Amino acid sequence: MKIIHVPQEMQVISKKYGNRSVGFIPTMGFLHDGHIALIMEAKKKQDIVIVSIFVNPLQFGPNEDLDQYPRDKNRDIKILEELEVDYVFIPSVNAMYPVDFRIRIELKERVSVMCGRSRPGHFDGVAAVIIKLFNIVNPTHAYFGLKDAQQFVVIQAIVEDLNINVELVGLKTIRETDGLAKSSRNVYLSELERIEAKNLYLSLKIAQNAVIQGQKNAKNIVELVKSYIKKTTSAEIDYIELLSYPDMKVVHQIENDIIVAGAIKFKKTRLIDNILLTENGLLK
Ligand code: AMP
Repeated sequence: MKIIHVPQEMQVISKKYGNRSVGFIPTMGFLHDGHIALIMEAKKKQDIVIVSIFVNPLQFGPNEDLDQYPRDKNRDIKILEELEVDYVFIPSVNAMYPVDFRIRIELKERVSVMCGRSRPGHFDGVAAVIIKLFNIVNPTHAYFGLKDAQQFVVIQAIVEDLNINVELVGLKTIRETDGLAKSSRNVYLSELERIEAKNLYLSLKIAQNAVIQGQKNAKNIVELVKSYIKKTTSAEIDYIELLSYPDMKVVHQIENDIIVAGAIKFKKTRLIDNILLTENGLLK
């Protein structure tokens, strides 16, 4: 496994792939089973596997947890070595952003809802880093978790609008045994919060059951989810939304594929989760 720090060095390597397929997994590090599932899938399907670790300051708002975001480079490298990844790209902030951007990258669609609304500018920061990473790594395939479903559809829009030559693969959310979605941020949950945290997922399952039983009214379902979270956690609700998927548009009556998504805030930790359903409530 080779560790690369300098973007230009990564670009030299990227010119020598020849006709081999390259699976790329961008991460912010502090690796867990969710990341590992993406890496294993890439390893199964592609000739070369490249993982990046970069906590991207552009996607954090001024009052968010950029400084507190968990980091453990040595542990991550050990995990990636054991997985026999080919390259790890770990650039510094300075290497990625040597000068202030002279251009502006701004999403227009799919960002007025969910995390796009509660974290203004977040997806513009994601867009900037992902376009840079795609240009630096030049992968044939890129792997993402659908735990961040809004991020996935935003990146889909970028790739389609800009004709970026990469195939996107979205993989299902990996969970703890009680249902909590694996996340680097889970380490900041207190003992009690950790017990309550599973209820975010359970609330989404309640929404799914309602859809299966024929409930078509989005507002009613959102209310069910909210009241379950209020009853079973001490967290503050950031948002609970039911939207069309993948367009992320408001729906009143369920007629097609949907996403039911939530973000809740514990003391130090904001958690997100979602489920993707057909109109009949089957998991997508
Ligand atoms: P992050 O390091 O949090 O930016 O995540 C890097 C990639 O791993 C993103 O594509 C995430 O969607 C994905 N990911 C994070 N958590 C999970 C999870 N629990 N299951 C599947 N994928 C995940």
